[in-house]
Amino acid sequence: MTYVIAEPCVGICDTACVDVCPVECIHGGASPSELAALPPPERARRVERLQMFIDPEECTSCGACASACPVSAIFDEDDLPADWLHYRALAAAFFR
Ligand code: SF4
Repeated sequence: MTYVIAEPCVGICDTACVDVCPVECIHGGASPSELAALPPPERARRVERLQMFIDPEECTSCGACASACPVSAIFDEDDLPADWLHYRALAAAFFR
């Protein structure tokens, strides 16, 4: 079982979750310097869909990230809203 980051994170990428994860399994987003180095069209595309992802192979399902997220974007995979089930596959693809 794992936790999954869903739609409310997209374009927000607060990263409060990263600070509380005991196994450092949340990645994604980009630093301001990384974004500045991208050509403008690529930057706009990245920011529009920018989000954090939880590594499903490393997550211990402690739930700390879900409590810390200011936009309620993180769910136990069994509790993911139906419209956001595809975020499980997006996370798996991010770490492949
Ligand atoms: Fe990290 Fe726990 Fe969130 Fe999994 S549930 S991503 S281990 S903080």
